[in-house]
Amino acid sequence: MAKETHEFQAETRQLLDLMIHSIYTNHEIFLRELISNASDAIDKLHFEGLTNRDILEGDENYEIFLVPDKESRTLTISDNGIGMTREEVIENIGTIAKSGTKAFLEELKKAKESNEDVTDKDMIGQFGVGFYSAFMVAEKVTVVTRKAGESQAYKWESTADGSFTIEECEKEKRGTSITLTLAKDYAGEGEDDYTDPYTVERLVKKYSDYVRYPIKMNFMFEETPKDADGKEIEGAEKVKRTELRTLNSMQPLWTRSKSDIKEDEYNEFFKHQFHEWENPMEIFHTKVEGTIEYTALLAIPAHAPFNLYQTDYEPGLQLYSRHVFIMDKCKDLLPDYLRFMKGLVDSPDLSLNISRELLQQSRELKTIGRALEKNILKSLAKKLKNSREDYEKFWNEFGKSLKIGVYNSMYSGGDTIDKLKDLLLFTSSKEGKLVSLKEYTERMPESQKKIYYATAHDKETIEQLPQMETLRDKGIEVLYLLDPVDEFAIETLREYDGKPFHSISRGDLGLDDAESEEVRKEAEHIQKENDDFIKDVKEALGGKVADVKVSARLKSSAVCLVADEAGPSLSMEQTFADMNNPMFKAKRILELNPHHALFEKLKELHAAGKDSADFKEYCDLLYTQALLIEGILPENPVEFANKLAKLMAK
Ligand code: ADP
Ligand code: MG
Repeated sequence: MAKETHEFQAETRQLLDLMIHSIYTNHEIFLRELISNASDAIDKLHFEGLTNRDILEGDENYEIFLVPDKESRTLTISDNGIGMTREEVIENIGTIAKSGTKAFLEELKKAKESNEDVTDKDMIGQFGVGFYSAFMVAEKVTVVTRKAGESQAYKWESTADGSFTIEECEKEKRGTSITLTLAKDYAGEGEDDYTDPYTVERLVKKYSDYVRYPIKMNFMFEETPKDADGKEIEGAEKVKRTELRTLNSMQPLWTRSKSDIKEDEYNEFFKHQFHEWENPMEIFHTKVEGTIEYTALLAIPAHAPFNLYQTDYEPGLQLYSRHVFIMDKCKDLLPDYLRFMKGLVDSPDLSLNISRELLQQSRELKTIGRALEKNILKSLAKKLKNSREDYEKFWNEFGKSLKIGVYNSMYSGGDTIDKLKDLLLFTSSKEGKLVSLKEYTERMPESQKKIYYATAHDKETIEQLPQMETLRDKGIEVLYLLDPVDEFAIETLREYDGKPFHSISRGDLGLDDAESEEVRKEAEHIQKENDDFIKDVKEALGGKVADVKVSARLKSSAVCLVADEAGPSLSMEQTFADMNNPMFKAKRILELNPHHALFEKLKELHAAGKDSADFKEYCDLLYTQALLIEGILPENPVEFANKLAKLMAK
């Protein structure tokens, strides 16, 4: 097949441009990325080889080989891993199929649109764009690859000018060789010289020391020959000697003693092992010797990955037995609400030889998992108690996982609620700060019997809710539920420390003080007196509301819409509707403020007869207002606007 030229996708081009114009200042990480790809490729081969020995072609000496060459200004990274077919080369390194890269570009676009300085932002740091990082240092990248078990090899080449070429070629060994033709700045003319073996060695030690496969490189020496006593022979001509060295220690970090490991080493290991770009928020390194023996190295990453709650996110820990890798992403160690944890477990009590399915059900695994969960929760509780700021940082990244955990306990059962309820934080009406349920209940006045909350997408909307006025005046703290999942979590909790949760937009507020009692009595009284009028308002709304009531919770607003105590709330109804699940309807109750001028006005109109057009129109307008206050669009906004315009023109 002849040489073919392909255009890069627009997105790939964009990404390459970014790479070349270096939004990421730490160029040297390119080597870590390419080595990590090589190591992944060997992993893949190794795993396929377990069931299909033919694919190994009799060669199980896995290795990664580096060749820096000053003369040709190149650095070559070779592996004897799985290799790629022609289609795979085009698919994997010619297009951006990975959702992570797409998300990265979208973030970048957003940042640009809002005029953020993208050069300052270590955004690649949050996503990672692997292979393309080669273009930060190379003018030309050449990939020669042969898929294990196949005979035809392919050569891919690009100078990042918008296109790449692909052609057939020869390659004796399976696997992939990536040759970077370095830009002059990175080949001795600038500060960095990646054709210098010692520079390369330093980078491997810094970033890739824990790669499981040997990373080898030849060192060239020119030496004067020595005599039997080890003395240089005078006048002898220098000879060249090549020494093959393995650059990485390959010693698994977790097997070393905790006191010997520096923070830096943990950080680099974490980034290498879990393909992360930032240092973790917290690391847990535990060794346990008992009936079950294991070592665990776990970490809370610095940031939640963009897809943490999407189906393509794969949670789970790596499993090792006596330092031999057995499984990636084992989901059965930690509960789903800790899905953000990264890490590994190494235990001689896990058997290498049983199937994945059996392993996942093993008693040992369950015991280890429970212990790890306990440790993590304990450490989080400690963080909440002793370093609030750090805990809030954690909460802002991963709090949602815990809230989903509470909600899911409806299905999973067990004691999840007890484990998590004290770790939850909510935004509070008190200075807009985060508050725990314990803090809330401890500082609420004795007369208060309920924990009040309000739902909306943002603080401002809640603060303007008509219902808030009374509570604010009475100095009652309200939890702001700003994420739809908050309300689901609260609904699942039902109560904390014997105090039920109560939405300020649902049922009666249930305030117990004398003044509230009086207001309630008065409202009931007015309701009775205006029985016919109220009934007619309800009738005029023709089934849009389940009930109309005289309000005991409004101060200056004319109306508000609340949901019946039983059944979903208005905001839950919205959430369900957003999920295309319009089955769950809140029972809407329209509350009228008897002290508002509109109340009298409406009564006046009603006096002209319940079928008067004006009365009906006013009822409808009031109802739509109440909807708008709740952030719900009227079914027919045009009709609303027309009615309002007509009224204004009167
Ligand atoms: P990631 O490693 O996160 O998947 P990269 O951009 O680093 O992203 O690599 C893209 C893809 O290219 C890899 O997923 C892999 O399929 C392929 N690839 C890159 N390097 C190699 C290699 N040395 N051997 C085999 N495949 C490779
Ligand atoms: Mg990669």
